[in-house]
Amino acid sequence: MIPDVDKRSWVEVDLDVIINNYRIYKSHMPNDAQIMAVVKADAYGHGDIEVASCLNNEGVRLFAVSNIKEAIRLRNKGINGEILILGYTPLRSAKLLKEYDITQALLDDNYADILKDYAESNTKVQFAIDTGMNRIGLDADDVAKCEKIIRKNSNRFNLNGLFTHLCVADDFSDESIKFTKQQINKFKQVTESIADLELPYIHCLNSAGGLYTDCQYEGINRIVRLGIVLYGLKPDRSNTLPEGIRPALQWKSVVSMIKTVHTGESIGYGRSYKATHDMIIATIPTGYADGYNRLLSNKGYVLINGAKAPIVGRICMDQFMIDVSNIGEVHIGNEVVLLGSQGDISFDADDMAELIDTIGYEIVCDISKRVPRFYSNL
Ligand SMILES: *Cc1c(COP(=O)(O)O)cnc(C)c1O
Repeated sequence: MIPDVDKRSWVEVDLDVIINNYRIYKSHMPNDAQIMAVVKADAYGHGDIEVASCLNNEGVRLFAVSNIKEAIRLRNKGINGEILILGYTPLRSAKLLKEYDITQALLDDNYADILKDYAESNTKVQFAIDTGMNRIGLDADDVAKCEKIIRKNSNRFNLNGLFTHLCVADDFSDESIKFTKQQINKFKQVTESIADLELPYIHCLNSAGGLYTDCQYEGINRIVRLGIVLYGLKPDRSNTLPEGIRPALQWKSVVSMIKTVHTGESIGYGRSYKATHDMIIATIPTGYADGYNRLLSNKGYVLINGAKAPIVGRICMDQFMIDVSNIGEVHIGNEVVLLGSQGDISFDADDMAELIDTIGYEIVCDISKRVPRFYSNL
């Protein structure tokens, strides 16, 4: 039940849908393959503790986050298994890695050299390998150098893995497929050079990478770092997801006021919308401070009365206006779906992203902390 006081702008997350998405994705993988659940950025806005807890119950033992604060939060809430930090940890916080049994990514040899002076001995680490994204990692083009650096650090730390990141696995053009295979090949060469270390966690696939059926069965592809598909969204709008995977999050608001706006009057800041006929306008108490993107001004729409109502005028910090002239009777307090479905129609984060030329990831990550999250099946 959602308390009345929260019925301004709120998110509903269906954890059963997340578990179902996980099971469906896993059913397409070999039996001995594993999923590392990527729950960074508050599980892409879905709630990291809630998502990680239900996946922990489902048997997931591997988690990835972006930073040490996120990792400690999970540990403090009783998440067990391995937690990998995919990015930078400030040196002064490095002592906490061991204390909380967290695995740190080594970003390159310089970072490893400095980190060893700050971290406890035997801190768990995994080396990032750069196979073409040019973000973090040892340059895979020089396999011999990679090998040397990896071996040196396996004596300093508790090195338990290597990983790389694919940067065009969501695109199936010939050129991108070629690049992805090249990335995987480069990674493979590095892993083979240190095969004798028998590192347990060797991984290179993200959600999109795991959709390549011919990638999944190689030795280095036994772990998929699954992010966006867990939440039911697509890595790229051109992708098709396995049957049954669907968005877990709905974002809702209500109608706060209804009025008639006459021909020639304008609506909102900057007077960017002018009424060409008498219109019935409803105000919605959600705005860009809630993470409702301002680029949706005069562009987006919401679902109300089982129909689509277009946004008119600019999105304000805390409110915006919609045209409800053509969708039957509307009353104060009526529920409005900003993301999700109503009746037969749906509008998810990927649909919204398409309107404003971004990706579903950004839409869900941007829903601000002011918007309370409610869970079914906790
Ligand atoms: C965010 C991230 C992922 C998850 O990517 P999705 O596209 O959401 O599956 C995997 N690996 C790394 C290194 C990441 O930063």
